[in-house]
This record gives sequence, C-alpha cells and structure tokens, in this order.
Amino acid sequence: MDVRFSIALPREAYTVAVVREFVGEALRAHGICDECAFRILLAASEACGNAVDHGAPARDYSVTTHLHSASCVVEISHKGTGFTAARVPPPRLDAESGRGILLMRHLVDEVDFSGSPQGDTTVRLCKTLHQGADGAAGCGRVPEPALC
Ligand SMILES: [Zn+2]
Repeated sequence: MDVRFSIALPREAYTVAVVREFVGEALRAHGICDECAFRILLAASEACGNAVDHGAPARDYSVTTHLHSASCVVEISHKGTGFTAARVPPPRLDAESGRGILLMRHLVDEVDFSGSPQGDTTVRLCKTLHQGADGAAGCGRVPEPALC
C-alpha cells in the first residue's frame, strides 16, 4: 500500500474538524484500526491547531497523509513564521502549545519539525501501524473489494 491524500485549508479553527473527518475517512477506508486512527487523528489535530493559532501570516495550511503498509505519515505545512522544536520552550502549566507537542510525541512514534528561512514550517508525524502475523490481520490491510 502506498497512497497519498492531500488537502489545503484556510487557517480557521473550524478546519481542524474538517481535517479529522477527511483523514479519518481515508484511514478507515484503508483498514487502519481504531487505536491507530485515534492516535494519528489526535496528533494531527494538535498540529493543525498549532498551524491555525501560530501560522500567521500564512492564510492557509496543508495536510498530506501518506499511507504505507507499515506506517502512516501526516505532514502539516504552512508558510508562516511558525515554530520549530528548538524555539518551543519547555512546557509550563499555562503553555498550551508546549503541552501539545508533548502530547503529539506520546501519540505517534516520530514528530519532526522542519522549517526554511522563507518561513515554510512542516510538522511531520509518523505512526507505525500494527502488523498481523503473515500479513493476514493487523491494521493497514486494504479491505477486499466487495463482490456484489
Ligand atoms: Zn493499528
């Protein structure tokens, strides 16, 4: 399996729910289990919330989901001054975005931040998917097409 879904959205708070619906439906359609989907969607929601809250002056942001047989990668990008991991202070009780990054790191296997001097910021979330014995079960298995 090697599938890519991509969506661009305005930097508005309501679009975080749109991303959850869109990516969630894509994950379900490809047989990703509820636990993996929950973790991926919650981490992606945090990253999208950060792009919405801290992505100024970018007007929009994009979300690209890559589904491989063993992993799912979600990249959330915007062209703003944004933030990188190095610039994020250690979380304090009142630091919402710092806590969000800790949460993302807890939910998925890898969280990477990258940026360019032009202000492009990308958060890359990578989650390993369950592997069934001899490929028979586990999540990430593409459902058999219906026969009728
Ligand atoms: Zn799974």
